[in-house]
Amino acid sequence: HRSTIDDVLSLCKRRGFAYPSGEIYGGTGAWDYGPLGVALKEAIQRQWWRAMVQLREDVVGLDSSVVLPAAVWRASGHVDAYTAPVLECERCHDVAAVPELRQAAGEEGLRLDAIPCRACGAMGSWVEASPVTRLVSTRLGAGAAGGEAHYLRPELAQGAFLNFANVVTTSRRRLPFGIAQAGKAFRNELSPGAFPFRTHEFERLELAYFVEPGAAAGWHDYWVEQRREWYVRLGVDPARLRRTERPADDLAHFATRGTTLEYHYGDPEAEWGELERIADRSDDDLARHSHASGADLRYYDQRTGERYIPHVVEPVAGLTRAFMAFLVDAYAEDEAPTTRGGVEQRVVLRLHPLLAPVKVAVLPLSRHADLSPLAADLADRLRRHWMVETDDAQAIGRRYRRQDEIGTPYCVTVDFHTIGDRSVTVRDRDTMRQERVGLDALEGYLAERLVG
Ligand code: ATP
Repeated sequence: HRSTIDDVLSLCKRRGFAYPSGEIYGGTGAWDYGPLGVALKEAIQRQWWRAMVQLREDVVGLDSSVVLPAAVWRASGHVDAYTAPVLECERCHDVAAVPELRQAAGEEGLRLDAIPCRACGAMGSWVEASPVTRLVSTRLGAGAAGGEAHYLRPELAQGAFLNFANVVTTSRRRLPFGIAQAGKAFRNELSPGAFPFRTHEFERLELAYFVEPGAAAGWHDYWVEQRREWYVRLGVDPARLRRTERPADDLAHFATRGTTLEYHYGDPEAEWGELERIADRSDDDLARHSHASGADLRYYDQRTGERYIPHVVEPVAGLTRAFMAFLVDAYAEDEAPTTRGGVEQRVVLRLHPLLAPVKVAVLPLSRHADLSPLAADLADRLRRHWMVETDDAQAIGRRYRRQDEIGTPYCVTVDFHTIGDRSVTVRDRDTMRQERVGLDALEGYLAERLVG
């Protein structure tokens, strides 16, 4: 049997959650988000923002630049340290990423130097080479060498550090407090993998949480738990979530500690895959920027009268990995009753109603001239509150299957009784139970069921 990830990828393409990017040119290795995918992604991000910013007194939002001058990335340590190890073939000078070679060696049960060069086939030809930068660069301006070097951000946090003093002053925050950002990041990944685990361009949900020196350990545990609960509240099976400590030799250059939240994708290649990580960054980033820019980035503690550089605890989620985890978790195949009294197989996405891309489908029982305008009016009314789809093609059972497959929590059917009694049939995606609801009460009925 195919893995759930395969099933989900095929559903993604079939129904418009995600398409291989540049497919008409043979594909670029990246993925683009289709009409349903962009809605799901937006819903995940919105729930993250609600939990992290809207519902918290101690966190504020920020939207900082994607492109920053090289000086910033030199100061942050990324230019020197944000690199990937590679080996070079002595014979043909082909360069290969070490993790990729290790994986190939592991699969064959071989030592690294027993892996042949994939370009020329030479054996034992690997020698150490200088590491390759994982930063994506560009040039801006009209200088001699075609402008001044800039880098696209590999993480959003540096924007939070550069604005730390601005935020403290303008929002009058006291420690502990956080700066939240959501947005794209870019990395030169030497071994990009299958959607959406490792891509050159991806979206991050980041919180930089500033605390008193010495308070980081407690806050670290607090955030691991908060973030785990967030996934569970949005319907993820707790048995498919686990936390692991990052070994010290696998920490980024800025981190002093790292905990990983993993999801059990159930795919042989990604049994447990990283969803999110919580890192302690000490006072390193602010201290570096303070030193390089000459700006005093110390925090003035009114209680003690001291000035110091706060420490940072940083939970960071990969939005695109969460996207896949929610889909894999929601994917199910079961049986549904047919109108003729039999049963048929159905694919259903049991997405949390807050995440479902389409909240309500309005389905006229047939294309009869008395029903179509009624259904169109009702859909227009409901659209003011939620994403609504209408569908009048084919038998009602087929239309339920189409909505089940994209996770629509409620289908509302307009039939001939509706004309006389001003009521509709509401069908629940999960229980498949149907209820008659008056048109006047419908918005309230749905609102009650579509909130968190
Ligand atoms: P690496 O695996 O390259 O060491 P990392 O896990 O150290 O990367 P972080 O900055 O800690 O990178 O990543 C935080 C989160 O961002 C990860 O848990 C993951 O969900 C997501 N992420 C990181 N890199 C990518 C990528 N290339 N594509 C998609 N998501 C990514």
